[in-house]
Amino acid sequence: MIDSRPVAVVVEDEPRIRAFVAAALVEDGCRVVETGTARDGLAAVDRAKPALVLLDLGLPDRDGVEFIRDLRRWSTAPVIVLSARSAEAEKIEALDAGADDYLTKPFGVGELLARVRVALRRHPAGRATDAATFDFGDVHVDHLQRVVLRSGERVHLTPIEYRLLSLFIAHAGRVLTHRQLLREIWGAGADTESTYLRVHVGHLRHKLEADPTRPRHIVTETGVGYRFVA
Ligand code: CA
Repeated sequence: MIDSRPVAVVVEDEPRIRAFVAAALVEDGCRVVETGTARDGLAAVDRAKPALVLLDLGLPDRDGVEFIRDLRRWSTAPVIVLSARSAEAEKIEALDAGADDYLTKPFGVGELLARVRVALRRHPAGRATDAATFDFGDVHVDHLQRVVLRSGERVHLTPIEYRLLSLFIAHAGRVLTHRQLLREIWGAGADTESTYLRVHVGHLRHKLEADPTRPRHIVTETGVGYRFVA
């Protein structure tokens, strides 16, 4: 029998809160995957393709904000942050990093489920295409391990090159403008520095394209930007 319940991944290291959240979600008709670390949480999202992630910001192995930044390289699953009231700045940082909503601890079942329903309405099923690994040509990208292989050989990418590649993959098939890329990587105000971008795209092509002068994957859209073709 196919289980059609929406899947929620709960990433929370405090057992009592995790049990409380999981019980409420099960009661509300979700299937729940419980994890207590960022590492296990990311792996669980990759495996389960959940409709929703509930994330504690204070995790034992890594900061929750970093979890969101990593997750957003490859997953669109809504993230509701569970945070302590004292962590106001952290909460804003989490939203900026790509979280969808937040709950301030302590919270009640009613409040939790109201937020969960809003998130599920927007995003009723996990996207099967959201995966932590991605293949194109002879290149294999693993976002969990942060490893890029070409014909099985490890390719060293700088942080900016890795970030560029992640953006290209996340927007595969669509045009990304110079401005979009500059803002995503260097922040607002970097609009005019398109030479930087050309240099880094050039390096990326040299590392990943069979013929960097005739790129098949990172394609130039003249005067506009780039289109990544898997
Ligand atoms: Ca915690």
